[in-house]
Amino acid sequence: MLVVMRPSATPAEINRVLEVIRAQGLEPHPLPGATRTAVGMTGNTTSVDPALFEVLPGVDEAIRVTKPFKLASREMKKDDTVIHTPFGEIGSKTFTVIAGPCSVEGEENVLRTAEYLMSRGVKFLRAGAFKPRTSPYSFQGMGHDGLKILAKAREKTGIGVVTELMDTENASAVEEYADVIQIGTRNMQNFSLLKRVGKCRKPVLLKRGMSATLEEWLMAAEYIMAGGNYDVILCERGVRTFNDHSRNTLDLSVIPPAKVATHLPIFVDPSHGTGKRNYVPPMAYASLAAGADGILIEVHPDPDRALSDGAQTINFSSFDEMLGRLRVMAELFGRGMNPLGK
Ligand code: PEP
Ligand code: MN
Repeated sequence: MLVVMRPSATPAEINRVLEVIRAQGLEPHPLPGATRTAVGMTGNTTSVDPALFEVLPGVDEAIRVTKPFKLASREMKKDDTVIHTPFGEIGSKTFTVIAGPCSVEGEENVLRTAEYLMSRGVKFLRAGAFKPRTSPYSFQGMGHDGLKILAKAREKTGIGVVTELMDTENASAVEEYADVIQIGTRNMQNFSLLKRVGKCRKPVLLKRGMSATLEEWLMAAEYIMAGGNYDVILCERGVRTFNDHSRNTLDLSVIPPAKVATHLPIFVDPSHGTGKRNYVPPMAYASLAAGADGILIEVHPDPDRALSDGAQTINFSSFDEMLGRLRVMAELFGRGMNPLGK
């Protein structure tokens, strides 16, 4: 259920609504909007009468949310969610580029990439310190040493760090070092991990499970939000189909319906989505055109020598060309860009 306050509602009137929700044994979630506040609630609301709230001062209406996902739903919150970070706002009018190597490979490599990205105005560096690899014999990432390298890159260049958390065991460490915590496709339905990042106070980038429906994906976001962390970024990264011309099938057709169903920002990862570097820029352009709020791109100083995902990783000159074209497109689509034009 959603209690919509009048634009003139006072903080005391909003607090009264929170108290009444708690008295019903439910959890209130205040959702401030551009003109008015709405208060969502989670728990078993089936027997709660909307009239209980409608008689309270400052309340406009109380409505039942029909979707199984509540806090993530557009029904609950009409305005697009904008996530405020020290590295720029994510969502709504801005199209944000996050880029970096698949894995943290060493200090020199990460610093070189971070310096290059900052020289182009890119404010977010992606790189995995903990890597979910299909084979146990493949490079597994640098772990805690990798997190320290990422922190050093941020300290030296001012770039924000996006890095994957694979298990609850390392949650505190990743929360401490990351500016955005990534949850990978293989963990989209790892419910204990989702509950744990629901308690984190850093934004979470939630990759779509490789065989997840839109509803399952939004239910995963709901787990995080129900824990009190409302800063969730969804990221499409390709799903498993019969095709064998690309690593995954990048499902850009999910973006328009996702925009209807949820107020959360939606990113696209064309690198994992295609698996082949030549296909990354075209799908990055298509992502912007389809309404995505940003992209996650694998870039490396020497992709052929990358320790993971080299085949889908672009080099600096391809990245420059792609960024230039994205800037032109962003203007055409009336979007701001992070990075801003240089
Ligand atoms: C990654 O971003 O490096 C990654 C492992 O992604 P995914 O979880 O989408 O495979
Ligand atoms: Mn990768």
